[in-house]
Amino acid sequence: MSLWIETKIEVAIAHRQYNVPCEDKCANLHGHNLKILIEIEGEPDPITGYIIDFKEVKELIKSKFDHKTVLNQRDETMIDTLLSINQPVYELPYNPTCENISKHIWDLIKRNFVNADITTIKITVWENRDSKATYIS
Ligand SMILES: [Zn+2]
Repeated sequence: MSLWIETKIEVAIAHRQYNVPCEDKCANLHGHNLKILIEIEGEPDPITGYIIDFKEVKELIKSKFDHKTVLNQRDETMIDTLLSINQPVYELPYNPTCENISKHIWDLIKRNFVNADITTIKITVWENRDSKATYIS
């Protein structure tokens, strides 16, 4: 027997993929409204009754991604340019693909809810209606 919770979050991001061929249009700065489904298996806290508080998860994810430009930290020219005109940037140690963002969100939840009794975290990130990545562990 297992208990799962799930919550959906939508964030607006700009991004580009670093060091991909120039003919790949993902090398150009562009935007998405990412849809993120967070599914968590665990046991509720005996006091609060929550596995984790949805509100805290949503605030965590939104604070990192929403209305930010998400870039590979090696994309220094773009990062410096955006910061010089006071644009918010969220740097990742890898390209900001759906695949990497889903794993990154998994890591954020794992690191920020260490006291929660979590068995499995499954993160699905839709870049658009037809394309998504899922990370589960
Ligand atoms: Zn994209």
